[in-house]
Amino acid sequence: MDTIVDPNFSIVLPGGCNGRCKFCFWKEEKFNPHGFLNGLSDALTGLPEQFWKISITGGEPTLSPIIDEVLNMIREVKERWPKVVFTTNGAELERTAFKLKGVVDFVNISRHDINDNKNYEIFGTDRMIPTMEEIVGHNAALNRHGIETTANCVLRPDLDPREYIKFAGPMGFSAVCFRKPHVEGCTLEPTEQERAFNDHTPIGESSCPVCRSKTQLIRGMRVVWQTSIPEPSDIMPDEIYEVVLHPDGELYADWSKRIPLEIPNEEEKEETNRASQSEEKLDEAVSAKGSAA
Ligand code: SF4
Repeated sequence: MDTIVDPNFSIVLPGGCNGRCKFCFWKEEKFNPHGFLNGLSDALTGLPEQFWKISITGGEPTLSPIIDEVLNMIREVKERWPKVVFTTNGAELERTAFKLKGVVDFVNISRHDINDNKNYEIFGTDRMIPTMEEIVGHNAALNRHGIETTANCVLRPDLDPREYIKFAGPMGFSAVCFRKPHVEGCTLEPTEQERAFNDHTPIGESSCPVCRSKTQLIRGMRVVWQTSIPEPSDIMPDEIYEVVLHPDGELYADWSKRIPLEIPNEEEKEETNRASQSEEKLDEAVSAKGSAA
């Protein structure tokens, strides 16, 4: 498999969502629990080693009827997957937090404003979206289980990031992630809101043709500014950016299910390993020649 460095394995947990966010690109799909769990089992054991991090998402993963089975399956192979990130709007976090212990390392809680009513408006519902006060309790519970939490916020022009950051620390978040919305034609250009913090030295930055990320320390919080192209495979057709397990239990190299994938068999994996080893040797030989010159 030709992949970027550190590609992601994303699991789209089936089971719907209580939100109706206008900027959401998730679409409800029929699922077959048996097929999904088989597909997950194959991916967890069969994906090549350059995949080492998992992103669990949805819909809303805490509402999935098979969340227990999925977490248990990952728990069994946790050593193989050292980083597991779980993204939620918090719907059923109260009864789910303890189940994440020992499986999930980071939880992203989507919260797009500091005001509860504004959040209900953005999520398109007040059904099971926890209040900011309840989130303080969820953060404390997750921290007790050794899990860090990040406040995930989609940037909109009327949001004041300074106010948001001021709120996030005392709520128990370790970090804030501001993300440009995934809309048709979005670019990797920073927003005005991000530019307003240009006087803060970045402590981490990365960029590629399809995504850009910058981390700064602001008021003691780790603040990440992130932007990416909605469908990376459109820009990088020959390289796998991430592998997505969809609710039908099938693997694709994209979110829009245009590029189906098969898990490589042992022979193909060995072939890939051999190819990368000979590439490494060639690189070493070239650099040794360069130093000798
Ligand atoms: S909560 Fe997440 S999955 Fe649900 S509608 Fe909003 S963005 Fe989409």
